Amino acid sequence: MEKLAYCEKCGREQPYRLNSVPMVGRLKEELYSYTGQEARCQVCGARLSVKEVEEANLRCLYDLYRKQKGIVSLEYIRELPKRYAIGKRPLSKLLGWGELTFTRYYEGYMPTHQYSEVLKRLYEEPSFYKELLERNKEALGSERSYEKSLKAVEALLSLAGGEKDAKIDRVARYLLYKCEDITPLMMQKALYYIQGFCYAFLGEFPFAEECEARVHGPLFREVYLRYKDYHYEPGEKKDGFDASGFTAGEKAVYDSVINSFCCYSGKVLERITCNESPWLQARGNLPLTAYSEEVMSRESLGAYFLGVKEKYHMVNPGDIRAYAEDMFRQSCVVPL
Ligand SMILES: [Zn+2]
Repeated sequence: MEKLAYCEKCGREQPYRLNSVPMVGRLKEELYSYTGQEARCQVCGARLSVKEVEEANLRCLYDLYRKQKGIVSLEYIRELPKRYAIGKRPLSKLLGWGELTFTRYYEGYMPTHQYSEVLKRLYEEPSFYKELLERNKEALGSERSYEKSLKAVEALLSLAGGEKDAKIDRVARYLLYKCEDITPLMMQKALYYIQGFCYAFLGEFPFAEECEARVHGPLFREVYLRYKDYHYEPGEKKDGFDASGFTAGEKAVYDSVINSFCCYSGKVLERITCNESPWLQARGNLPLTAYSEEVMSRESLGAYFLGVKEKYHMVNPGDIRAYAEDMFRQSCVVPL
């Protein structure tokens, strides 16, 4: 599955490799520094222009701009139609905007500050959406789409009022408690290993949420969005953690995943998880840097982690470490 691009120096298509490099981009008369990727010809070393790579770099630049200017993230915007079970155009009309305005933001155009605030509030406050839906339902033009969306927002509201504390959130907080300098992306990898190894050792998946095979590795979307702005502050005081809700078996798996994997950097964990078959299977023939929300199937996760347990003759959750060390060694010798 080697990837090819046209190299002008060689005069033909050649395989290329990707390097992480510091980049500077200009947006609205200001310069931004970020880490991007460049494609280099494997044969002559020349820099190649590859559309997906350039698009991914542009996305990094835009993400940075959004973060610095407090503009709503593209992920939030993309999540909205799903969150409220509504089409892009109907949503735009509901907001009293031009029919295609929301679609443009969905495709990546930068919203103005004012529109951005509305979108943020819409994402964060289902009650705000519900109000809007009731007030402007005429704009939808169909009773069916109104009812479908109403059902979605009411489900969110009852979730917020009732049992909000899903298991995955409790485990996420446990991870923050146990390894304080964890980054949002490392947390996602740890949750993924917990999902897999709990299945292998305890016979069932602890989390109801689906894990997506994203460019940067496995990701549980809702939890990621909740914690993505988390930054560890050195010296921050930690509250205690009440682990009495976990069974002994669960806690043994959580602790072993933390001890075995959370000592590696986010980049190393990304390389390791992207070499495992649940991620590879879910991505199929997608280009390496292509955006995708493809879900890893429970079958592939279950089969993979049962296989790992068997291959490494694991008896106790404590044995997970041998697998982590092995994968770490492999990820160091595989050229990227
Ligand atoms: Zn070349």
